[in-house]
Amino acid sequence: KSVIQLKDISKSYSTDENETKVLSHVTLNIHEGEFVCIMGPSGCGKTTLLNIAGLLDVPSNGNVLFQGEEVSKASSKRRAELRRSNIGFVFQSFNLIDDLTVFENIELPLVYQHVSPNERKFRVDKIMDRLQLSHKKNAFPTHISGGLQQRVAVARAVVSQPKLILADEPTGNLDSERGREVMEMLTNLNELGTTILMVTHSTAASDYASRVIHLFDGQIVTENLNKGK
Ligand code: ADP
Ligand code: ADP
Repeated sequence: KSVIQLKDISKSYSTDENETKVLSHVTLNIHEGEFVCIMGPSGCGKTTLLNIAGLLDVPSNGNVLFQGEEVSKASSKRRAELRRSNIGFVFQSFNLIDDLTVFENIELPLVYQHVSPNERKFRVDKIMDRLQLSHKKNAFPTHISGGLQQRVAVARAVVSQPKLILADEPTGNLDSERGREVMEMLTNLNELGTTILMVTHSTAASDYASRVIHLFDGQIVTENLNKGK
């Protein structure tokens, strides 16, 4: 079963003077339970591809199906709805809100989903316990280490039990030990059934994926299955 299908998508940005083609005829099928990694040099279109797969952006041409539903021409409201209930995002820059506590940051997606306060507390406590964050519950993001901040970002991405996690350079700002911790967290979530699509430069990170896709100048050039994964 497919979670995301990109069918012959292209993406261009145009200004008054010229048009930049960022993605060209990309076809990609992400199956339920997969851990897919996209690699490629800076500027090759990785983030653009991730944004389209995450329903944050739409292609100029081609089709995007989310769980079988055609979304490339859906309203931004419908896309936001699908995102909210199905997709968790993890970024290199963590994207935590500085004046909310760790608890409140993790709680945020559930607030957006109108989950009741009691249920929110139950779910946030549970995920904090699982990711060993409980002792930092009332701390503010700027007062904890980068490794812990990324752990909070992962907790926030998974607290609503999304079907799909999109991760853009999740280890980009971490040393190798903290990076390994984050990758092990993602692997663990994948083993519990969450589909993961990740973009990275790091071969240490891509080793955790079950499929590695190389993008070059907006096109998929190679696809490899990771043996033993
Ligand atoms: P990567 O993530 O692989 O570094 P990106 O997807 O961020 O690549 O960007 C690919 C290309 O698209 C870059 O040349 C970038 O400058 C261009 N680009 C990205 N977003 C926009 C935008 N909103 N407007 C114009 N050009 C953009
Ligand atoms: P709305 O504007 O309708 O409230 P948003 O697009 O702000 O909807 O948010 C919907 C979901 O998409 C949220 O869960 C949010 O985390 C995610 N999201 C929105 N914009 C971005 C972005 N630029 N980067 C990452 N995630 C985003």
